[in-house]
Amino acid sequence: MKETAQILREKGLKVTPQRIAVYNMLLQTNSHPNADMIYRALEETNPTMSLATVYKTLDYFKHLGLVQELNVGEGSARYDATVHCHPHAVCTCCGKVVDLEVEELTNLHEKLSQPLDFAVSCEQLILYGTCAECQQERTLAKTV
Ligand code: ZN
Ligand code: MN
Repeated sequence: MKETAQILREKGLKVTPQRIAVYNMLLQTNSHPNADMIYRALEETNPTMSLATVYKTLDYFKHLGLVQELNVGEGSARYDATVHCHPHAVCTCCGKVVDLEVEELTNLHEKLSQPLDFAVSCEQLILYGTCAECQQERTLAKTV
């Protein structure tokens, strides 16, 4: 894998330790964090980084195609370093956002039986429901 500093440089971004920290954090997680979650996760190791810097960094990353922004209906956007189109699921019970690695739900516009009179450049599929852990907790709560 390419070094983070090199990836940022190739995108024309000035390399700073804070930008490296934000991008590495997103590469290492599949939790689709929002700016605040990223800020809190990096607070300890990057004490001089402000929440405003995290927002600004995410905005640069988004415009350069290093991350994708997900709007799952919360007040703030979630971020994903996996930039290709893939479906997501949101648990309305605990709020977690996960990847749905289901081929049938990926690139839906290409699977349509009828061609669309619309040039699709991107699609975002978000399913809402209850995650496996929350389903289990509900079942346990009922049996007590
Ligand atoms: Zn859940
Ligand atoms: Mn994802």
